[in-house]
This record gives sequence, C-alpha cells and structure tokens, in this order.
Amino acid sequence: MEFLYEKVAYLKGLADGLDVDESTKEGKLLMSIVDILEDFADAIVELDEDTEEITEYVEAMDEDLANVEDDFYEDEQNDEIDFVEIECPNCHEDVYIDGDLLYGDDADAVCPRCHEIVDFEQIGDYCHDDPDEDE
Ligand SMILES: [Zn+2]
Repeated sequence: MEFLYEKVAYLKGLADGLDVDESTKEGKLLMSIVDILEDFADAIVELDEDTEEITEYVEAMDEDLANVEDDFYEDEQNDEIDFVEIECPNCHEDVYIDGDLLYGDDADAVCPRCHEIVDFEQIGDYCHDDPDEDE
C-alpha cells in the first residue's frame, strides 16, 4: 500500500509544477484535496498493516487448532469406541450405542432417540455380531 504515498507525492509534484498554490480559490481547494488524499493514504496503510498482523495471528491460531485437532482425534482413535447397532426396546428404533455401555458393569445406556434409560443387557447379544458364534 506504500504506492499510495507515491501517488500523493506525484500529485504534490504535479501541483507544484503547474504552479497550483493557495493563492487562488481553486488552488486552495486542490491543495486541500491533496492533503486529504494523504490522510486517506495514512489510514489505508495503517489498516493494511493491522490486517496483515491479524492475518498472521489467525494463521498461527489455525495452525495451533490443527495441532489440537490432530491430538484430539488421535486420542479418540486410541479409545477405540466400538458402537453397536441395536434396537431400542422402548422406541424400537435402531440406534448406535457405545459397546462399553452395553457390556460394562453398569450396563444401563440412554437411547439417543427416546432418551429413555434402557437396560440393553436384557436383550443381550441382540444384533451383536460374534464371528465365533454358530449361526
Ligand atoms: Zn429408544
């Protein structure tokens, strides 16, 4: 954005070369227009620098977030949540339940459809594929 200063400097040089000065009404107007253009150049250059700073900051945050996401999804994969498709005995919808909730010590799970606490243990291995089991 530094080229804005060059353009204003060019206008100032032009005014000087054309003998435009504040001795006439028009000269006064033109000189103040050039001054105001310089103020605009200042403001735009400042905005441009601020934007560049913010852009760098956002890029750094984006990089940090990507690292956090990588760590997060890595952890999630290590947990190996095994979802089991099962029919809810309350609303009879096929829902996916965390297998740990079905077969752990405290085997009560909440149906994601009807939000009833359902004892899925009652229906045992229903829908749970076990390759060792005889068909
Ligand atoms: Zn249900």
